[in-house]
Amino acid sequence: MPKNGLFPSAPAPRPRVGISACLLGEAVRYDGGHRHQPALVARLRAAVDLQAWCPEAGAGLGVPRPPVQLVGDPRRPRALGVDDPRLDVTDALRDWLARHLAAMGALSGFVLKRNSPSCGVRDVPVFTAPGGPRHAGGSGLLVLALLARYPALPLADEAELADATTLDDFLEQVRRYHAARPINV
Ligand code: SF4
Repeated sequence: MPKNGLFPSAPAPRPRVGISACLLGEAVRYDGGHRHQPALVARLRAAVDLQAWCPEAGAGLGVPRPPVQLVGDPRRPRALGVDDPRLDVTDALRDWLARHLAAMGALSGFVLKRNSPSCGVRDVPVFTAPGGPRHAGGSGLLVLALLARYPALPLADEAELADATTLDDFLEQVRRYHAARPINV
């Protein structure tokens, strides 16, 4: 026991941040590839713990798999096959997300793959109908689920974080979110 009877307080756990698995180099994209961002991943790992997420692989859509695109109301789009719009993976993705949303509550931020119909933060193409014109742009199904349940969660995509100032700002937002959590798990 220490002389003063006081034990040093346990170090605060580092913030945990979700990240699209393909940005970590995991070969989970529809074409069997990845979009590894080694410099960004190294910067993030210096400040936070990363947790990989791939909704499409997690939902059992397979690797490789047919590409999908967002169609319909940008606030609640459906994810339909690009080549065959009869392929509708919306419910599979939403079911997987609903089952994993609680685990996302342990996160203090999320780094996402730009333009993905699942992971894109903003400006993801959303079409009025298969083969129809596109709306101005929307968010992927993972991001819509995150925003609905954790509206203040810091989110950014890999293209935004290529800018050093934006990355610093994002990490500061993550630290503040983490510090404000009622229980740091
Ligand atoms: S963008 Fe998202 S859904 Fe697509 S491969 Fe990467 S992690 Fe998976």
